[in-house]
Amino acid sequence: MIISIEEFKSFLGPKFTLLDDNASKREYVFEMKIDNTNLVIKVFSSISKESDQDAHCPIRVVVIDIVQKIGWLKTQKVLKNENWQPFLTKTINRCIDDSLFKLEEFKKSISLREINLKLAQSTFNLSQIWTSTPDFFSTTVPLLDKFKQQRRRDSCPKCNRIYTTKNMIRLLQAINFDINGIQTKTETLGWTFQCPHCQSLLKISAY
Ligand SMILES: [Zn+2]
Repeated sequence: MIISIEEFKSFLGPKFTLLDDNASKREYVFEMKIDNTNLVIKVFSSISKESDQDAHCPIRVVVIDIVQKIGWLKTQKVLKNENWQPFLTKTINRCIDDSLFKLEEFKKSISLREINLKLAQSTFNLSQIWTSTPDFFSTTVPLLDKFKQQRRRDSCPKCNRIYTTKNMIRLLQAINFDINGIQTKTETLGWTFQCPHCQSLLKISAY
């Protein structure tokens, strides 16, 4: 099926801009920014700039993050048959919905990461008093739980560079048993880290 560029243009309407740069030397490409985002929808028309004869390749719809310069969704294809208009409308609307949904999920995961980091730091900052013998530092922290332990990340009291849970060399736990000798629970008493930069030992005890 052959679609003219005028037909295509009027179908997409004024929200879409026809790109006159070198987005594609071969075909006409349209673009629309998704409001309040860094995302643009591009519609590759499959209408040739040179002739009207390339009727067989499908119209493609892509979403791109223009700041990060990455594709945001998988490319969608719309066949050029008599139903191309409703299908293209549907595809564009779905791309907008999916893009916004993905963006919300992305924002949530970022803020969750920030909250976790703050939590990990706040437990630590409650007690920044380190006592030390050469290259061996110790301190105590309240409010321990597994959640924070797994995300622990802080600066070394000696060299001030970052160490993380990956640098834990010992986990001190108390294991409790009931009268039948069955293990009931484990309780974290503290950790020892080794700074990956200056090799200092950092012992953190729970109270
Ligand atoms: Zn260090």
